[in-house]
Amino acid sequence: MTTLDVSAVRTRFTGQVVAPGDDGYDGARALFYGGHDPRPAVVIRPADPAEVASVVRLAQETGLELSVRCGGHSPVGHSVVDGGIVLDLAHLRAIAVDVEERTVWAQAGLTAGDVTKALAEHGLAVGFGDTGTVGIGGITTGGGVGFLSRKYGMTIDNVLAAEVVTADGEILQVDDTHHPDLFWAIRGGGGNFGVVTRFKYQLHEVPGVVGGMILLPATPEVIHGFLREAAAAPEELSVIVNVMPAPPMPFIPAEHHGSMVVMGLVCYAGPAEEGEKVLAPIRALAEPIADFVRPITYAEMFMEEGDDEYHPTATARTMYADELDLGRVTQIVEQLRTAPAPIRVAQFRPLGGAVDRVAADATAYAHRGRAFMVNIASFLDGPDTRAEREQWVLDTSAVAENGVPGAYVNFLTEDGATRAREAYPGATWDRLTRVKQQYDPGNLFRRNVNIPPAG
Ligand SMILES: Cc1cc2nc3c(=O)[nH]c(=O)nc-3n(C[C@H](O)[C@H](O)[C@H](O)COP(=O)(O)OP(=O)(O)OC[C@H]3O[C@@H](n4cnc5c(N)ncnc54)[C@H](O)[C@@H]3O)c2cc1C
Repeated sequence: MTTLDVSAVRTRFTGQVVAPGDDGYDGARALFYGGHDPRPAVVIRPADPAEVASVVRLAQETGLELSVRCGGHSPVGHSVVDGGIVLDLAHLRAIAVDVEERTVWAQAGLTAGDVTKALAEHGLAVGFGDTGTVGIGGITTGGGVGFLSRKYGMTIDNVLAAEVVTADGEILQVDDTHHPDLFWAIRGGGGNFGVVTRFKYQLHEVPGVVGGMILLPATPEVIHGFLREAAAAPEELSVIVNVMPAPPMPFIPAEHHGSMVVMGLVCYAGPAEEGEKVLAPIRALAEPIADFVRPITYAEMFMEEGDDEYHPTATARTMYADELDLGRVTQIVEQLRTAPAPIRVAQFRPLGGAVDRVAADATAYAHRGRAFMVNIASFLDGPDTRAEREQWVLDTSAVAENGVPGAYVNFLTEDGATRAREAYPGATWDRLTRVKQQYDPGNLFRRNVNIPPAG
């Protein structure tokens, strides 16, 4: 490893170079999640794909560890590296919509919210997750499960092509016929294979949705009923069911603050009249505490503004469940009720629909055919609470998880190093290691849920 000569680096890039002591250094190394305090040797924001390739070569030349950053929402802080080089894609923000072809090329410095907003002008959409500030780079390379998943599949199911800078600094155009193995691997295999500088997505006409948040009392019967109705509903409906203490927000009646509620995020991507009918059995489960579900544009599902000062620390576990019967749900509610942390959440995402119409080996996301994705999370109140909160997460997960053990790579936390084989089971793992051997034999891209080169 050589010491980095930052002034020489500055002459090499027209994009932005931020080093310790520069204005903006602290902002450039901050992540969405707190609890990380890495001090990179340099943060480089390349101006174009050729400069991305230069950063990759710089990392090879210096031997400094490289991290790739898009939206900065990595739960484990993978996108910023202590003492190393941060390749921050923030300046790659070009977007080109082809309305007739219903496709978009979007550069990888954009967020889910940026792309959704730009497409909304044309009544078009591609599904990402539930949060607009998440970067398209991280969510797309890991999979992408959100408000349009049951209708139009995961984000990766809508990727038609991509531009990738490989470990040796080559810029490749990849799709089903050009570098098909690499194209397969970047759809679910995370950041292991190169830096994606732009994605081409298939778009869908989504003129409006019936969507928003509904708050219901968190009895086991209501939660079980919500999941049952959502799983049986037409695939136009995708929901995310969060069970958690009601936060003290102005739109929630004060008498409910702190009590357990179901915070359901719903999105019906079809005619409003049909949506109201499909949602009726969910609304009938109990008198809603609050009901903000109404006909809106799809972009309004992402109305939240990013808050640069909000950096929660949390521990969480991702898993799948094939059944969530009333007995199991009752035990989960009891776990939530008696949890040590003031803020804890059990999140359930009914899957199916278009997610399952893609073969398990068609992309590097192998968990097709699972009924529910589940995430159990507990916030921390200082490092001393970590062990206790992790134990609670494990205990609660043991109740929720059933069927073949599995993990969604984008929700893996510190357990990512030990659970990579659950994210990438069997033949998927073997193929990923072979693609890694071909495109990154030296494991330059290792700040991720790492897939080692075969052999
Ligand atoms: C509040 C919140 C809500 C979320 N909701 C959802 C959700 O609803 N659905 C869902 O599926 N996921 C969700 N996620 C998980 C999210 O998809 C992952 O954390 C994702 O990695 C974040 O992407 P990013 O670009 O913001 O992160 P970053 O921290 O910038 O990147 C994370 C890692 O992704 C890789 N990466 C990023 N960009 C590229 C690129 N262009 N080329 C190659 N590798 C790259 C790198 O390995 C990088 O270290 C959520 C996360 C948070 C924090």
